[in-house]
Amino acid sequence: MTEKFTGSFTQQESIPAEGIAAANAVMQSGRLHRYNTSGDEIAEAALLEEEFAATVGSKYCLAVASGGYAMTTALRASGVKHGDKVLTNAFTLAPVPGAIAAVGGVPVFVGVTEDLLIDLDDLSTKLDQSKVLLLSHMRGHICDMERLIAMCDAAGVTVIEDCAHTMGAAWNGVPSGRWGRFGCYSTQTYKHINSGEGGFLICDGAEDMARAIMLSGSYMLFEKHRAAPPVETFAKIKYETPNISGRMDNLRAAILRPQLRNLAAQCEKWNARYRVLEKGLADTAGLRLIPRPEKEQFVASSFQFLLLDWEAASVGDVLTRCAARGVELKWFGGAEPKGFTSRYDSWRYAPSSPMPSSDRVLAGIVDMRLPLTFSLDDCAQLARIIRAEVSTVYQGQAVAE
Ligand SMILES: *Cc1c(COP(=O)(O)O)cnc(C)c1O
Repeated sequence: MTEKFTGSFTQQESIPAEGIAAANAVMQSGRLHRYNTSGDEIAEAALLEEEFAATVGSKYCLAVASGGYAMTTALRASGVKHGDKVLTNAFTLAPVPGAIAAVGGVPVFVGVTEDLLIDLDDLSTKLDQSKVLLLSHMRGHICDMERLIAMCDAAGVTVIEDCAHTMGAAWNGVPSGRWGRFGCYSTQTYKHINSGEGGFLICDGAEDMARAIMLSGSYMLFEKHRAAPPVETFAKIKYETPNISGRMDNLRAAILRPQLRNLAAQCEKWNARYRVLEKGLADTAGLRLIPRPEKEQFVASSFQFLLLDWEAASVGDVLTRCAARGVELKWFGGAEPKGFTSRYDSWRYAPSSPMPSSDRVLAGIVDMRLPLTFSLDDCAQLARIIRAEVSTVYQGQAVAE
C-alpha cells in the first residue's frame, strides 16, 4: 500500500475570530483609510505600527501595502538613485530584484552557499561595487550576521534586510530586521501573519522614518503616526519627499493585530513541524538537509533540502513521483521560472554573468511550503513519502551509473 498525502499546500489557517470581529468593526465604521479617524480615535494602522515596533524592539515602524513596497521605500529612503548598483542575493524571490528595478537601480547578484545563505566570500569581492546591500533572508535562512555587518560597516555599505521569511526570527538573540539600517517584512498570505497583502518597514533613524512616512503618502498627516519620529523631523523632509502612495489601511491592520499577538506561538508550531520533517528525512542517501546553527533562531514556514549534483531528469522524477502521492515540491533548478521559483538568470532585465557554484546549489534546491494547517502527523507522512521517492530514484540512478 502506498500512502498518499491529501493536505493542501496553499491552505493557510483562517483569520482568528478576534481579527474578524475587529475587521467587521472597521467596516461598520466606514473609516478604512488610516488617516480617517474620528475625534481622538487612534487608527488601527497606527496601533499596529506601535505594536510591531515593540515586538521587534525598533524605534519606528511604518505599515505599508506590501513587502515589495517596504523594500522600495527603504531603498529610496537610503538615497538609491536611478542607475545605482544594489547588491542582493542570487537566491531570492522576484520582488527583491524587482524592488531594486523599481527605483531604477541595477541589481548586483551575490552567490548562494550549500547552506542556502548569502555567500559572504563572494560578497566581500563585490562590496566595492555598491553603497547598499538588500539582504534577503530567503526561506528564513539567516547568515552569520555579525560577520556580514562587520564587512558592510567596514566598506560603508548600508544593509537593508528583507525579512519576508524571518518575522519572529532572530540571529544570536537580535531579531531579524534589527541588524541593518532598515528591516522589511511582508504580511502577504504566505508569510507569518496574513492580511492578504501588506508589509512593514522598521528602522531607528528619525530622518529615515520621516522620509519613509512621507514616501508612503502621508498627505502631511504624519502627526497621526505613533511609532514615528517627532513632527520637527518632518520640517524640511516634507517639502523634499515625493508621495508614492503605498499605505496600509485600517481593515488589514485590524486583521493583523491579533495575529501579531499570537506570532511567537505560531513560530513554535512551525518549528515543531520542521523538526518532524527534518527527523523523518535524516540520513536519506542522496538528500542533503540544511544545517541550522544554534545562533539562528529561525521560523520554518517552509522546508528546503538539496539534491546536490543530481541529474536534472532525476530531480524531475522525484518531483513527479512525489506529486503523484500528493506532495507538492518546487524546484529552483528548472530551465524556466515557474510559480515562485525564479532565480537570478530568470530576471533578464538585470545583467548577470554565470555563477557556477551558485548554479550548482540552485540546481539542487527543493522547496516545500509548510502551512500550519498541516499537523505533526501530516509532516511525518510527508517525510515518509519524500524519503521513499528520493531513495527509489537515487538507487535507480546509482544502478544506471
Ligand atoms: C514574499 C516575499 C517578499 C515580499 O512580498 P510581497 O508579496 O511584496 O509582500 C520579499 N522577499 C521575499 C523573499 C519574499 O518571499
